[in-house]
Amino acid sequence: MTADDHHVHDHGSELSDMQLRVRALETILTEKGYIDPAALDAIVEACETQIGPHNGARVVARAWVDPDFKRRLLEDATKAANSLGHVSPVGAHLIALENTPELHNLVVCTLCSCYPWEVLGLPPVWYKSAPYRSRAVIDPKGVLADFGLKLPEQTKVRIWDSTAETRFLVLPMRPEGSAELSEEQLAELVTRDSMVGTGLPKSPADAKRGASR
Ligand code: FE
Repeated sequence: MTADDHHVHDHGSELSDMQLRVRALETILTEKGYIDPAALDAIVEACETQIGPHNGARVVARAWVDPDFKRRLLEDATKAANSLGHVSPVGAHLIALENTPELHNLVVCTLCSCYPWEVLGLPPVWYKSAPYRSRAVIDPKGVLADFGLKLPEQTKVRIWDSTAETRFLVLPMRPEGSAELSEEQLAELVTRDSMVGTGLPKSPADAKRGASR
């Protein structure tokens, strides 16, 4: 690409250049019969409803109730996650990071926005933002405070930088007071942020309050 390609033009549309390009491409491919708009809708629908943090939550909840699964998860997260039969199998090398009272794990992609989308869905906007990507490394506790997360003084924070080849899934600590819950109920406590490291799972009491609202 040369500098000449970067010309500015005003097309008088509300859509961004990228949206216009996607729309034009979709129209041409549909007209030529290469793609079926209904199939595209199904893919978008899968991304919006079937592929999301609930997949990661199932992985975490299983690890909380099944010590053998947890061992396999920490050994080879790709294999362990795929053994649950999710809609979209994990393709990249997935590594599970266990939080403990001594160590809290935080995931970032300093370069761009690599994210374990097969288990967490599409990344939130803040994950892709420059401030998160730079500050997570320089001032992790400050970033966690921005998310309303205050860790005990003695807990160390370790930062993990995602790449195109390696993605990370945080295995948060099982919340207190959750001993009586079923695996399905436990999965409902697992938030997306708790699997990125910017949050903690909900407590059973929080979950109850949320459900009665
Ligand atoms: Fe990236």
